[in-house]
Amino acid sequence: MNYISLNNANLKVSFKEALMQGIAADGSLFIPATLPVLPDRFLHSLATHSLFDIANTILAPFIDDIPKSDLEAIIKKTFHFPIPLVHLDEQIYLLELFHGPTLAFKDVGARFIAEVLAYFLKNEQKKITLLVATSGDTGSAVARGFYQVPYIDVYILYPSQKVSPLQEKQMTTLGGNIHAIEVQGTFDDCQQLVKSSLKDETLQKALHLTTANSINIGRLLPQIVYYFFGIAELQKAHPHVSPTVVVPSGNFGNLTAAAYARALGAPIEHLVAATNANAVVPNYLKTGILKSQKTQHTLSNAMDVGQPNNFVRLQALFDNQYEKIKSNVTGISITDAETLAQIQQTFKQNHYILDPHTAVGVAAAFQLRNKLKPMIVAATAHPAKFPEVIQTALNQAIPVPEALRIVMSKPKMSTLMKNDFQAWKAFLLS
Ligand SMILES: *Cc1c(COP(=O)(O)O)cnc(C)c1O
Repeated sequence: MNYISLNNANLKVSFKEALMQGIAADGSLFIPATLPVLPDRFLHSLATHSLFDIANTILAPFIDDIPKSDLEAIIKKTFHFPIPLVHLDEQIYLLELFHGPTLAFKDVGARFIAEVLAYFLKNEQKKITLLVATSGDTGSAVARGFYQVPYIDVYILYPSQKVSPLQEKQMTTLGGNIHAIEVQGTFDDCQQLVKSSLKDETLQKALHLTTANSINIGRLLPQIVYYFFGIAELQKAHPHVSPTVVVPSGNFGNLTAAAYARALGAPIEHLVAATNANAVVPNYLKTGILKSQKTQHTLSNAMDVGQPNNFVRLQALFDNQYEKIKSNVTGISITDAETLAQIQQTFKQNHYILDPHTAVGVAAAFQLRNKLKPMIVAATAHPAKFPEVIQTALNQAIPVPEALRIVMSKPKMSTLMKNDFQAWKAFLLS
């Protein structure tokens, strides 16, 4: 399978090159040149397949430059935690993607890209520098996924004061090959620093840069897998059902993965983009105009993105036609007050504690519930990652899992940095 730049189909590279470069030479994102055709018998028998089977069937055609047995080993290491589909009520299911080491769905993409990069670099004995911008959860997942992985130095750029104390500890306490950079700016500023670095020839030559953000296609591909798996789980009880998939979204990697799953033949009735007050995409779906906005700080901070980078990939999947996107994707923006109310209501009615991001998804699902059922909401983080929000919503403390308690007790190690590309470049080269 080849990967091409979104803006220039002549810029064509292998999976390995797409992964190593992060973004194409013209500064735009890589997409698969074609979509694989999955066997009909697989699509019609999803419920009989394991997570491992599904991952192999989907990823093998996208990644034909890794021998099958090596790819299987990588897949085994990536999907080594459960992904339960939980029944919230008769219409809404939660796909719990948060049982990995840092308790958010980003563990899937981060572990996969770490394993794949390590695999390629081991064969080449080459060192690279990985940059990643984070609004909170990517940094923790990437830090854990890449910790002590040989040949890779990791720089995590996060917005000062805009991530939760727990998220900050998860990315600043490892040390070793993991370097945390506290940027005096927003997530979008961090992302811009990463993008500018990737385009900078001096930095590229000196450090062999790439990124583990979801602009890297290596993050996105493994996320396609769990949508197939969630539907397979649902079809065990309800054969042939075709659910609507609701994705709490920020940078739109996760929703794009769901759209890829659907394009590959996953039975998905409709897609719902649920956002917080950073409503760039819901506004686009209403007006046809894609207008980035200044990032707003909300309770679901991992979705505080004013310039959703992956949305161009989603548009491309729908041939860049607004009418097509509009008829396949519904956008709903949820306020902080609605988020808190949803956490309260779900706790009262279903005895289930939603994290603030998943609560945005469930609140959106409730707005559509009688029109589009059943629905699978991607449950993107464990509520214990956001104890302050849960305390506010439910007026009670949430038990802290052991792994998080240990992280909280460690000292923070980070470098404070202005939002200034020249200063950042000088620091990297020093
Ligand atoms: C990153 C994140 C999101 C948003 O995912 P995107 O792929 O950026 O749209 C949602 N919820 C949680 C908990 C996250 O960490």
